[in-house]
Amino acid sequence: MSAVLKNIGIIGAGQMGCGIAHVSAAAGYRVHIYDLSQDRIESGLATINGNLARLVTNGKMTDEERKATLSRISGSADVNDLAPSDLVIEAATEDESVKRKIYSQVCPVMKPEALLATNTSSLSITRLAAATDRAERFMGIHFMNPVPVMKLVELVRGIATDEKTFTAAKEFVGSLEKTVTVAEDFPAFIVNRILLPMINEAIYTLYEGVGTVDAIDTAMKLGANHPMGPLQLADFIGLDTCLSIMQVLHDGLADSKYRPCPLLVKYVEAGWLGRKSGRGFYDYRGEVPVPTR
Ligand code: NAD
Repeated sequence: MSAVLKNIGIIGAGQMGCGIAHVSAAAGYRVHIYDLSQDRIESGLATINGNLARLVTNGKMTDEERKATLSRISGSADVNDLAPSDLVIEAATEDESVKRKIYSQVCPVMKPEALLATNTSSLSITRLAAATDRAERFMGIHFMNPVPVMKLVELVRGIATDEKTFTAAKEFVGSLEKTVTVAEDFPAFIVNRILLPMINEAIYTLYEGVGTVDAIDTAMKLGANHPMGPLQLADFIGLDTCLSIMQVLHDGLADSKYRPCPLLVKYVEAGWLGRKSGRGFYDYRGEVPVPTR
């Protein structure tokens, strides 16, 4: 465990917030999750419990460890409950205005010396830092999805991030048994700068009728040895998150090669956001996922 951070606050009980809570509590930290409603908290805690139970079934964790991990996690829809946190990790919706609003609510509650991090996939750390009262104690800690499985965490400093903050974040991530890679603060950092244009191109390939969902995913799985097809991966990430990242790349780098595919926009407008909403490039409402095109 980190020598300086004991209490971890998480903002957002979605896919990423729950994953970060899971691995932090499993490493011995006390974790508090904050989200907009008690319903979201309850469903997040149920997800974490389900994921921990699966680890017990697979022999990767004992039932005692599962219970101890769960006992270290609390949750509420009251932002004031983040006050004891030494580090707050914001993992809310990928929307700059949402994140700015959250910082204006959470900063006055936090201890002055506490660190604030964002799990943003693409937004400028320096710009987000400027919306807080602690730019020197703010940085990007970018976990990958699913957090309990993926080994990498990108660390991103803003222009004002101090060395003490960076060292504490690096130590924290190391204590979760993840590997750190350091990225400069440019749109989408390293992983998503490379990954999302590939996913967007797969959606263009579908949009232009070059192949079906099944043909494209099979092609990339068997032809490029990817463990998952790009459209399956897009559903897994969340199509709203994919679109936000493409928009950040397009706006931030002003290059037409990052233009979000109109078909991606259409799926998001339909509320077909992938796995988390039950439908995206595949329909997940039946026994097995069925391609939607
Ligand atoms: P999600 O949609 O699963 O969860 C977002 C959560 O934020 C929801 O529970 C929502 O209720 C909550 N939220 C929204 N507004 C809020 C507010 N004002 N206060 C408190 N909570 C609020 O999204 P996600 O996939 O978990 O993504 C969260 C963040 O992690 C985003 O910044 C995203 O870019 C980043 N991220 C996502 C992935 C991925 O593959 N999905 C990977 C790495 C990083």
